[in-house]
Parts: sequence; structure tokens; C-alpha cells
Amino acid sequence: MFRVLFLLVAGLGAMPASADFVLNNLRYTLYHELGHALIDQYRVPIFGPEENAADSFGFVYADRVHDETEMADLIRDVVRLGRAEAAEELFDPWSEYMPGNQRTARAICLYFGLNPGERGHLARALGMRPDDERFCIEAATSNRRAWEAVLEQARPVGGAPGTLVSSGQGKALRLLAPDIERINRTIALPRRTPLTVETCGQDNAYYYHYDDRMVICSEMEDVLRTRARQP
Ligand SMILES: [Zn+2]
Repeated sequence: MFRVLFLLVAGLGAMPASADFVLNNLRYTLYHELGHALIDQYRVPIFGPEENAADSFGFVYADRVHDETEMADLIRDVVRLGRAEAAEELFDPWSEYMPGNQRTARAICLYFGLNPGERGHLARALGMRPDDERFCIEAATSNRRAWEAVLEQARPVGGAPGTLVSSGQGKALRLLAPDIERINRTIALPRRTPLTVETCGQDNAYYYHYDDRMVICSEMEDVLRTRARQP
């Protein structure tokens, strides 16, 4: 009986954390792709790699719409995935992304710098060094200033239909439905942008500049579910 009860309690404890890991990483992926869509459709001038700009947008936007508890859960799960992936990656100097561990450090840096008064403890627990704090605050402040100008331009006119349109089937779309709805309340893309889940042959997500469409690969759902169960 005790054993059954223990398993029940352990199961109840583990399931939401695992589900949150999948949701938080899908959510951050959605925000990153939304950054690409804004850069494309508003012709946002960027300095440096577009992937870095899309990552920065992901955190600036998350910081606007999520409370401190949600932000803490988001950064923990994004860091856990980032470090697991970095442990398996080979360095490619031609990659459009920063090396995985550097990308993860940058994520912690932006998370902290966007609200340093509340986030020092967790950022340090995730590896940020005291000497990095000033730079992180400066980096987050300049990124927020840059993206807020774009978000102001993209503010929806009252009553206009949402421009990010969930299309077709896929568990990711069901999980992200409230986030997609919130995006449409806060951001209007100039062109209708479908979001679909498709089989791509790799664990990834895309924004296609040439036809204004966003895709989450079904392989990403599978990989996230597997990673969620790993310690
Ligand atoms: Zn990207």
C-alpha cells in the first residue's frame, strides 16, 4: 500500500515537471521563431547574427508576458535542454548559432539582466559569475530597448484578427494554444503567418522567409519528451 501510494505521489510529482519541460522549451522555440518573423516582416535592421537577435527577442518577449515564477521555470528548462544538447554537439565554426554552451550562458545572462533585482540567486545557481553581472545588465537593457521599438510598431489595432495562425494537427499546437492567443493579442505581423507541426527529418523549428510560415518539427516534440525524462 505504501509502495503504491509512494509511486502515485512520485508519479504526480514527476509528470507536471516533465510536461512543463516540454512546454517551456516549445514556448521558447515559438518566441525565437517569432523573432525571425518580426525581423523579416518588419524589415528590422540587425547587427550580428540573426540567430542571436532571435534568441534575444525570445527573452525580451518572455520577460514582458510571464511572471517571475514562469520565467524561473522557463530559464531552468531552457538551460537544462541547452546543456544536454551542448554535451553532444561538435563545434562548427560555420554554424549560424553560437556554440551551445555559449548560447546557454547568453540566455542566463539575458534572463538575469532583464530583472537583476529578482533573478541574481537563480542566475548564479545556473552558473553566472559575479563579474558577468554588469555586462549582462547592459546587454539585456540594450536588447530590450531595441526590441521594444519593434514591439511598439507591431502593437495590434483593436479588433484585428490574429496574424499568427495555428494550422493543422500536432500536440505542440495544442500545448501552445494559449501562448499563440497571447501573441496575437500583443503582436500583429504584417502578413498572415501559419504555424504548423510537420515531419522534417530533424529536431528543429523554422521560420521560412520566402513564404511567411512557421514550422515546428514533430521530431522536436519527440526529442523534448525523451529529454524531459532524463535526469
Ligand atoms: Zn532561429
